[in-house]
Formats: sequence, structure tokens, C-alpha cells
Amino acid sequence: MRLKELGEFGLIDRIARRVQNCPSVVLGIGDDAAALLPTPGTLTLITSDMLLEGVHFDLSFCDPQSLGRKSLAVNLSDLAAMGARPRQFLLSIALPTTISLEFVDGFMAGILEQAERFDVTLVGGDTCASLGGLAISITALGEQTPERVVRRSGAAPGDLVCLTGTVGDAALGLSELRRGERQGFLVERQLDPTPRVAAGVALAEAGLASAMIDVSDGVLGDLTHICELSGVGARLELAGLPLSEEYRAACGADPFALALSGGEDYELLFCIRKEKRGEVEELLEALGLRFTVAGEIVAGNSVQMVAPDGSAYQPGKLGFDHFG
Ligand code: ADP
Ligand code: MG
Repeated sequence: MRLKELGEFGLIDRIARRVQNCPSVVLGIGDDAAALLPTPGTLTLITSDMLLEGVHFDLSFCDPQSLGRKSLAVNLSDLAAMGARPRQFLLSIALPTTISLEFVDGFMAGILEQAERFDVTLVGGDTCASLGGLAISITALGEQTPERVVRRSGAAPGDLVCLTGTVGDAALGLSELRRGERQGFLVERQLDPTPRVAAGVALAEAGLASAMIDVSDGVLGDLTHICELSGVGARLELAGLPLSEEYRAACGADPFALALSGGEDYELLFCIRKEKRGEVEELLEALGLRFTVAGEIVAGNSVQMVAPDGSAYQPGKLGFDHFG
């Protein structure tokens, strides 16, 4: 069958039939608005991210399932960075009239597979035809008790600057895709990132993170956001940046450039009091995640970068900026 024969309501119905019931969803897809039952005593955290063909993804090198998983992953990553437990999401899509039903089915399979993995429920959205490219917008809702929510603004001098996982992989993966490479670790990190939901929630609920952000714009840009909102500076030891073997093998002469400015790793960058280091290390190890201390929060208002030889490192471009 073709999308045209199915029509808007046929497509919504096809999506709704694949969504399972959930106790927090009093009314899901099908009415004018969804009705949700919040967990008593929690705040609702809500975030939205848009993915546009030609700006955020290229259909010549991303398969529909991965695109579906990534569309939800980037939103779950924002909730994780607040320490929120993801609950529900809305999906709005603008579909080019030429798109195949097979593509839409694959995309929905990817989204719903990711939703099941992270225990979130699709509760509504909007479906339109696009005269341009494919556009995807997801709004995700999460919950956390007020005192456990982690903001960008809580870092204090003396805190350690920490990271989960490795950085730079996704940006290098993108340049490999543009050169024609279609598989491998770096390409996977670009096309199919894993949001660090369990880590974000665990750090928040154990009261370990003083500030947190997900690495979507690059370590330097995202650490700068924390510094600005916390009214502090930071010293970043470049020798301490967590780089994967695959990244090191392919990054070229300057291993720090992409690791600092490349986005889309969706790791967590967070600050902790020095004395909590052992506890955090244990917590992340139990989740199977690499943990790295890459620097320290200092008084001031800038991020100083220290090259492995002790000299000051001068960066090129500062993170990703749509209008920059
Ligand atoms: P309205 O015209 O009242 O806005 P719609 O016809 O757009 O309603 O949507 C009907 C129902 O289907 C609503 O519950 C809406 O949330 C849901 N819905 C529409 N598009 C999607 C989508 N892409 N994914 C999930 N739910 C959707
Ligand atoms: Mg509508």
C-alpha cells in the first residue's frame, strides 16, 4: 500500500495500533489532547527537539529505523541531563508526499523500539504533508522530585568536571559518512546514539551532580553553557578527554579539535564535589559506563584549556551554532 491510499487518519491509526497502554496515560492518541496522570510530588520536565532533513540528517545515509531511534534519543538525552525519568512523548511529523510507506513504517518501528527500551509512551502528535523535506519534532515529558532536578547552574569552584563515555565520535562519524563510509563504530555513534538516561537519573537521585548538561553541541560549548549559568570558569585538561580507540585512529593531526567542538555524542557532562569521585565512579561502573574526570571548575568566567604539554590550547570553532 502507498501512503496516499492510507491517508492521514489511516496513518495515525496505524501508529496508534502499535502503541501500548500505560497506567500514567489516561487518554492517549485519538482525542483532541492526551490526558496524563503525574506521579504525586513530582515536577514535569518537558523538552522539544526538531530534526530537519538537510539540516540534521541526510536520507542518503541514514536508514529509517536509526533515524527513528535517534529522533527520540536526542529528546531523552535532554531529560537525562536534568535527572528526569522519561515518561511520555509527542511526535509531530511533516512527510514529503513522495516518501514511501515502507520508510514511514521503518521510522515508526525505530521510534517505538526506542520508546520501549526507555519505557516511554507515545501519547499524541501531529501529522502533515511537507512541500519540502522530512521534518520531525518530538516533545518529551519526564518527571523528577523538585529537589533532585539537576540544572546547568549549580557548579561551584573546586567541583570536578566529569564525562560519561567518549567524545568526538559522532562528529568524526559524520565526516566519515560524508566521505562515503557506511559502517563502523564512529558511523554508529553518529546515526544511532544512546541517551544516558540511567546515568542521568542515578546521578540525580543520589544527589551527586551539582550541574549537568548533555553533550549535543560539543564539550567546549556545553561546558561553557554550564560556566555561564553557574557564574564560574573551568580548566579543562585535554590529556584527560575520553577518546575512543576508533576516534584516535581516525582523527588526524589534532585529536582535540573535534573532541572539543564536535557535537551529537549525547554523553553527559556533569560536575561533582571532589569527595564524591569514588562514589560516582562506582555508580557509573555499575551501569557499564566509562567515567572520566576531565577538569575542574574554577573561579572566573572562561574555560581554559590545558594541552598535554601544559601550554594553553587555542580552540578553533566553539561548538555548533545554527546561525553561527
Ligand atoms: P486535531 O485535528 O484535533 O489536532 P489530529 O487529527 O491532528 O487532531 O490528531 C488526531 C489524534 O492523533 C490526536 O490524538 C493526535 O495527538 C494524534 N496524532 C496525530 N499525529 C500523530 C503522530 N504522528 N503520532 C502520534 N499521534 C499522532
Ligand atoms: Mg492536529
